[in-house]
Amino acid sequence: MLRNKLDTEVQFLPGVGPKRASLLRTELEITTVGDLLHTYPFRYIDRSSIQYISDIRSGSAYVQILAQVVSAELTGKGAKQRLSVLVRDASGEMELVFFKGIKYTYDRLKPGSTFLFFGRPSVYNGKMNMVHPEIDNPPTLGAQNFSGVLTGVYNSTDKLRSGGVTGKVMNKLMAEAINLAIGDVQETLPEYILREKGLVPLKFALRNIHFPSDQAALSKAQYRLKWEELFLLQLSLLKQKYIRSRAENGIPMPIVGPAFHACYNALPYELTGAQKRVIKEIQADMKSGHQMNRLLQGDVGSGKTMVAVLSALIAIGNGYQACIMAPTEVLAQQHYANIKKYLAPTGVRCELLIGSTTKAERRPIHEGLEDGSVGIIIGTHALIEDDVVFKNLGLAIIDEQHRFGVEQRSKLWSKGATDAPPHVLVMTATPIPRTLAMTLYGDLDVSVIDEMPPGRKPIQTMLIGEGKRPAMYNFIRKEIAAGRQVFIVYPLIFESEKLDYQNLEAGYEEIVRRFPMPDYKVAIVHGQQTSEVKKFNMDAFVAGRANILVSTTVIEVGVDVPNASIMVIENAERFGLAQLHQLRGRVGRGSEKSYCVLMHGLKVSKESRKRLELMCATENGFDLAEEDMKMRGPGDLEGTQQSGLPISLNIASLAHDGQIMSDARSYAEHVLAGDPSLSDPVNAPLAAELRKDKYSVKDYSKIS
Ligand code: ADP
Ligand code: MG
Repeated sequence: MLRNKLDTEVQFLPGVGPKRASLLRTELEITTVGDLLHTYPFRYIDRSSIQYISDIRSGSAYVQILAQVVSAELTGKGAKQRLSVLVRDASGEMELVFFKGIKYTYDRLKPGSTFLFFGRPSVYNGKMNMVHPEIDNPPTLGAQNFSGVLTGVYNSTDKLRSGGVTGKVMNKLMAEAINLAIGDVQETLPEYILREKGLVPLKFALRNIHFPSDQAALSKAQYRLKWEELFLLQLSLLKQKYIRSRAENGIPMPIVGPAFHACYNALPYELTGAQKRVIKEIQADMKSGHQMNRLLQGDVGSGKTMVAVLSALIAIGNGYQACIMAPTEVLAQQHYANIKKYLAPTGVRCELLIGSTTKAERRPIHEGLEDGSVGIIIGTHALIEDDVVFKNLGLAIIDEQHRFGVEQRSKLWSKGATDAPPHVLVMTATPIPRTLAMTLYGDLDVSVIDEMPPGRKPIQTMLIGEGKRPAMYNFIRKEIAAGRQVFIVYPLIFESEKLDYQNLEAGYEEIVRRFPMPDYKVAIVHGQQTSEVKKFNMDAFVAGRANILVSTTVIEVGVDVPNASIMVIENAERFGLAQLHQLRGRVGRGSEKSYCVLMHGLKVSKESRKRLELMCATENGFDLAEEDMKMRGPGDLEGTQQSGLPISLNIASLAHDGQIMSDARSYAEHVLAGDPSLSDPVNAPLAAELRKDKYSVKDYSKIS
């Protein structure tokens, strides 16, 4: 049988050889010609749009110049070293500045040589310059048979470049690869989909993604490849959801039960319409005989705890146990204290199990879980330890889901002692943009609490700099005099970072100096304290014995102190929008007007300022999340780093291709409705694609 040429190893392409092949493998994960063809340019040099230096104005977006190096000068030492390069074209001169990769760049930019520079112009000392422009060799027209107007630029690394795999070499390799193997490319989408969706064939797409014949062809190629990628992703997620929802493997919980009613009738308030609707959705799931896998999204303060309690009581009412797992001890303790109150009228036994629970305390809890006398258990990761055995776990509730890794979640899942897995309810207050939710939770059902309990006052958010610090302290004094409490939060991005702790300590000392005893009491809470110390300080604040709580983000999730009216966030630019929003949600829980003060550091970039201003302008968590994703990209989004995306996207972007994602998802639903198992021969290419590693999101079906 003839080998498919796509499987040819790249080292057999002219000009590659073992050394470059190994570089391509280690640096770009390219082994075969097929891999090469699926490595796409991240931008294109448009040879038709080279600008003259004299035409460039400050504020221009990205520009490209074709210029000759006049001189290159190294200044400064060590970390302060920089490289200034003066270049000129027929119209004028410009300075280019580099802070990184200095030696390599210095060697490359020899006076007299000409390059294409691509970057963003800025004004420095009254003169136009460019910082860290990308450097390309000047186009050599006609050097390759695919030379169009647009030339692809591929990701590269210093190692690749110094190993001789320059941009030009990459272009040449792509041309070789296409000549050799394009004929062997198999169409991955069925003919009917190409027709119905108006997509170009794969061969056309691959040829034009590397060597666009013009802008229109490039756009068609990009659209086709993005659509396919998102479509296959959605297809794989929806297929799993479909399989699960058809399987008869859930614990049927047909009744609501007396415990539910006892709790419900004793509630001190009326549930909101949204809470009622969500509880109905959950109850319908638990009744259905299928396993529930539901994500409950609700902004901070929307009342998710009550929904959790009532859901747990449905499990109890049907003779099963329930657990509620929280990400931190502080939060688990607070849940426990709150939930116990709600449970008082029901007589259900509820226990707390966290890392600091002593051995002696654990014994009766373990026994109670095993013999079924403990109905509801609240805890942290301690719940998934091996020695925790349930009699019959029927419902697992995971609060603030994003803090748990996939593995931990599936471990909880396996705690179900009965033949059927427990129902799963995942609760999150991190508003997740729609496109991301479709990917991260593509196989879960989603409920949203989109209504706040009545009586909440809006929170006024302001952005201030160091100059206004004294005024802020005065404002805090006034609020405290009126009986209110204040949070002051310091960024601690890595819990171990020494510098961050120094900031926190220094901040604490400053606050204690400004707010001295006996008029003021200041408590401090952070992740390096033992849980007793943490609890002691936290309790002091919750009980109103301390006026000010200085802390790190340990207070981010869940903590409820209705009397707190000011949230001060130091170095706010170091937080993501989603996290800022969570922190802000700690105030505005009582009936008093509340404030969120964002303090920005001395150096704050334009983008950071824009984000912070957005915080001031809107209180809607979903709008913020959407914007955050556009500004920072999905990889940086709070909450997604740990759980991670199920797959890495090659060409589509969750931040920018939401429209394509929605279209691809509904089309995937349409395809599965007609052929759930993808066994129809016309769908054979799709079934084959889903068998590939990229789309086998194995752990993912078990998140849940
Ligand atoms: P979150 O969704 O952030 O977990 P909580 O469940 O902690 O929110 O609820 C926030 C506060 O609102 C709590 O003090 C809770 O008692 C209160 N609450 C919840 N539901 C209602 C309601 N329907 N009416 C009035 N207050 C409510
Ligand atoms: Mg909560």
